[in-house]
Amino acid sequence: MGLLSLGTPLPWDQARDLAQEVRKHGIEQFLHIWNNMKDRKSDRLLWGDEIEYMLISLDRQRRRARLSQRGHELLSLLQVEETESLERARLTGEKIELEALWRPEFGRYMIEGTPGHPYKATVNDLVNVESNMKRRREIVSQLMGEDEIIISVGSYPELGSGDFLDPPHKANGEFSRSLFLPDEVINPHPRFRTLAGNIRERRGSKVSINMPIFHDRNTPRPFVDPTIPYTRDLFPGDKEAIEGAALPDHIYMDAMGFGMGCCCLQITLQAPNVDQARRLYDQLATVGAVMMSLSASSPIFRGYLADVDCRWNVIAAAVDDRTLEERGKTPLANDRFVIPKSRYGTIDTFLGSSDGHFKPEYNDLDLVYDKEIYQDLARNGIDDLMAKHVSHLFIRDPLVIFEELLKQDNSVSADHFENIQSTNWQNVRFKPPPPNSPIGWRVEFRPLEVQVTDFENAAFSVFTVLLARAILAFGDLNFYIPVTQMDVNMERAHSRDAVLREKFFFRRKVCADEGRSCCNSDSGSDAEDEEVAEMSANEIINGSSSFVGLIPIVEMYLDTIALSEAVRHKIDSYIAFVRGRANGSIVTAAAWIRSFVQSHPAYAFDSVVSSEINYDLVVALDDIANGRRPAPELVGQGNAM
Ligand code: ADP
Ligand code: MG
Ligand code: MG
Ligand code: MG
Ligand code: MG
Repeated sequence: MGLLSLGTPLPWDQARDLAQEVRKHGIEQFLHIWNNMKDRKSDRLLWGDEIEYMLISLDRQRRRARLSQRGHELLSLLQVEETESLERARLTGEKIELEALWRPEFGRYMIEGTPGHPYKATVNDLVNVESNMKRRREIVSQLMGEDEIIISVGSYPELGSGDFLDPPHKANGEFSRSLFLPDEVINPHPRFRTLAGNIRERRGSKVSINMPIFHDRNTPRPFVDPTIPYTRDLFPGDKEAIEGAALPDHIYMDAMGFGMGCCCLQITLQAPNVDQARRLYDQLATVGAVMMSLSASSPIFRGYLADVDCRWNVIAAAVDDRTLEERGKTPLANDRFVIPKSRYGTIDTFLGSSDGHFKPEYNDLDLVYDKEIYQDLARNGIDDLMAKHVSHLFIRDPLVIFEELLKQDNSVSADHFENIQSTNWQNVRFKPPPPNSPIGWRVEFRPLEVQVTDFENAAFSVFTVLLARAILAFGDLNFYIPVTQMDVNMERAHSRDAVLREKFFFRRKVCADEGRSCCNSDSGSDAEDEEVAEMSANEIINGSSSFVGLIPIVEMYLDTIALSEAVRHKIDSYIAFVRGRANGSIVTAAAWIRSFVQSHPAYAFDSVVSSEINYDLVVALDDIANGRRPAPELVGQGNAM
């Protein structure tokens, strides 16, 4: 998200009545963009990453680590340079290049950093990624106090458990109404608490998040969480936990902050034109799950070891604003649709492109879409698949409406479109150009968990970009599987050690045989006529006797471009790292963290991650990220120092 709209966000009972109007204008805005931008050609292959960090304050004497509310303050300081440079550029016409840009996130303790300007298509830019990520850490560090650190990890172990916030605050906030999370964890910009409040209001109850607990040898069976304040009587929703929202054998969470308070790594790629953007969107969507399993870094929630390694489902449940009717729990009466999934989740429909690989049967979900909007788009010349995509996004209500921003000139603003678009949080996002801007059609790759070190974050970013370049360069590459199998893959990718233990649906033959060595693998299996097979992460990434593998595809792409020795060396280290994650010779952060907890002297093998363990873990992650603690088992030998 870029700059935040300022103004007065409307509470749900007022926002609800304006939903239709926002949708109507949002569609007009989309049509303006489409008509003006659909013929853009030859845009450069710009790209950029986003890394989210958590600010932590340490009490070294008491050995306590707490999420710091000062994150928000730090962010304002970080943004000073950008604001001043923009002003200077405006006055002098001078072109100013910043090293990094800083953005707010849902958590008050969170900071998001991106490169100061997007990377270009040059290979040299690929080796600047890691150093830029390092610079970002340095820039933040310069503003931090002596007892402050930033870490980059999917879920904060103690979020919502015990004394986890600095300064501390009781969980009694009107917006989340959580039993565990005070509203003080939320970024103070009014947009964020309104999001939390309006999701809860719209849903008609608090969100209910249940992640399976990891049963260790001393974990009670069934596990009934003794730390849930079942008897609190502050808000009407306080009864939900005892009335069944909190499942046995699960870690129960009840607020948006548990999901949007997680950190991730995202990559946005510009395509040469809209058709290629559609192609990238579809192809990258199918590799999301396996990539997520490689990047897993979220094994602990609310102070307990979970039986999952990833944050994705937590966020999906944390922003699930569907009403009872929409969830199919009561017959449709007031709402428009029964909607199978949260607004955070895998995509429900492919976009198709001119490459000829798409088949209608890949969109095998009974898609819910707004038929009127679809008709409107179709009447205005939007093709079937694009119209389905947009009218599917628009089954959702806008969650936050700023009173002052209701009236827009639809030929120059995309605010209403973006309102709905930016609260459809999916594994890939199709980003149309902003109106009247030099920016082109982009695709955002969103399933990756953030990594502990800059080396790993750079490795995943560069690997994703190279895979995307290969997809664009080799028009015959075809990763399509039915969208419903993508859902299954994402589910599987969550499970503990999915990277080693799961199989994912993947297309068996992903390139036409054009004489390229990597496309010639022998597919001599029984299921010769099956398009899709179930494969391990190792087979998908590294290839097997019957599947080429994504790394060989990337390497084949690399062979088509001229690389200096030094650049190739760097890229090879990233590829070796990804290979290691997939074949298990390098562990995921989730596995590393789990093993750290299980070998900690204070761990009682009861799934509980105490404040003491949390402190040691956070310090260890900080030491690894800053090269003070070697962790070749996590990052590979010789990397990340
Ligand atoms: P959001 O949060 O909506 O995804 P951000 O502004 O936080 O958006 O991040 C956008 C990302 O896109 C950054 O990594 C940025 O470097 C990158 N980016 C900016 N302009 C372009 C462009 N024209 N093409 C591709 N990527 C871009
Ligand atoms: Mg962002
Ligand atoms: Mg973000
Ligand atoms: Mg976010
Ligand atoms: Mg993003």
